[in-house]
Parts: sequence; C-alpha cells; structure tokens
Amino acid sequence: MCGFCGGGSISRRQFIYGGLVTPLSIGAVRKDGLVEPALRLQPQTGPRRVAVTLDACPGHFDPRIANLLVERNIPATIFITEMWMRMNPAGLAFFLKHPQIFTLENHGARHLPPVLGAQRVYGLEVAGSWPAIVSEIAGGAEAIYKATGRHPVWYRGAAGLYTPSVIPQIEALGVRVAGYSLISDAGASLPAEIVAARIKAARDGDVIEGHINQPKRSSGAGIAAGLAALQDAGVQFESLGDAA
Ligand SMILES: [Zn+2]
Repeated sequence: MCGFCGGGSISRRQFIYGGLVTPLSIGAVRKDGLVEPALRLQPQTGPRRVAVTLDACPGHFDPRIANLLVERNIPATIFITEMWMRMNPAGLAFFLKHPQIFTLENHGARHLPPVLGAQRVYGLEVAGSWPAIVSEIAGGAEAIYKATGRHPVWYRGAAGLYTPSVIPQIEALGVRVAGYSLISDAGASLPAEIVAARIKAARDGDVIEGHINQPKRSSGAGIAAGLAALQDAGVQFESLGDAA
C-alpha cells in the first residue's frame, strides 16, 4: 500500500505485480548520472498486448486523445500532477466520469523530477533532496485520493528520470516506480505522423508513454491515430491498474 496512506491486507507483491507487469529493470546510468527505468508487460502467448500510459504534466486537457479512448473503450493510465488537476477541473471531471477507461496514478504534486542536487532536467527545476521528493510524491498521492477516494499505486517522476539511489527508497515507501518501454511523442514534441508510426510499431508487452496535456501540438493527434490503428490491428490493451 501507499507508504503515506496506511496499511492494507493484500501483500505488496500480490498488490503490485498481480502477474501483469515485470519488475522494474533499471536502465543504464546516463552521462548526467540519472536513470530512465524501463517497464514492460509480462510476456504471454496470444495477441499483441500493450498498456497505454499518458502523462498529465502541468498544461491542458487534450480531448482528441481522451474522446478516442472513451469511444473505443481503450483503458489508459493517466499519470497526473496535482498542478494539472487544479488547472483543469473540467478535464479532471471527464476522467472521473469514465473510471472504466481512466486510472489516475501519481505524477507528483509540482512536477519536480525525483533528482538529488541542483541540476536541471529538460529545463525543469528538480526536487533536489529526499524530503522534497517525499513531499512531491505524497502531495500527488493526496490529490488523487481526494479526487477519487483511491490511493495511487504507481508513481512516475517528472521527466521519467531519477537519481539511481532514490528508486529503492521510493519503492520502500510501497510505491511502484512506473517506467515505460516506448516513448511515443518525446515530450509532445514530435509531429503527428511520427508519433502515430511509433505507436503502430509497438511490440508485444510495450508500455507506451505519451502526453495528454498539449492539445495545441500535433503530437496528440498522432497518439489518437496510432492507438486507433493498433486497435484495428487487433492489439489488446491492458491496464497497469489491473495489477492492483
Ligand atoms: Zn511530466
């Protein structure tokens, strides 16, 4: 259970993995000393399966993606920040209206990467210290609990990058660190055709990452088109939340 929210009767392993996702594998340490963890669904026989995860960093609501997911009954995990929730009450209400489609998980309170020290990451100010990382995670978890009555299971740090030593500390709080295996839009910076092509090329077990907070950029149209094409190709969509 969430280390901030008290206990639970289900064992951690059962609660977290549920047979669906493979435990976190830590990627190579980058030149800047940070890691970008990878996460994939466990291999299974049968049709190609993927999980859709979309980040609601600070920004706006992208109805192109949200409507497509509802129309086609495709489940998605939304990694949401407390800031986004405050800025987008109508978008939040849309997510809450379709709980069978959208599962809200923790992308932090203020979108501060869980990085120690003073460096910037993609121009973002970082949390900087362990207590600040804890408050980033706790603030995000609290906002989700207030909105949904449900404690988030997963945390994806802003920018998806971590100081390696904080990952086991975060997991010791009972929080799962949510990596991914397919970056679709590079921070909503790629044009729609490229985003759609990347998603269409998803391999079995991929955890797809993209953004649902940039409705004015073309990337979001590519996410919608790519997911529609995957579904038309018979791909099955799994929810990370199924693990809980
Ligand atoms: Zn983000």
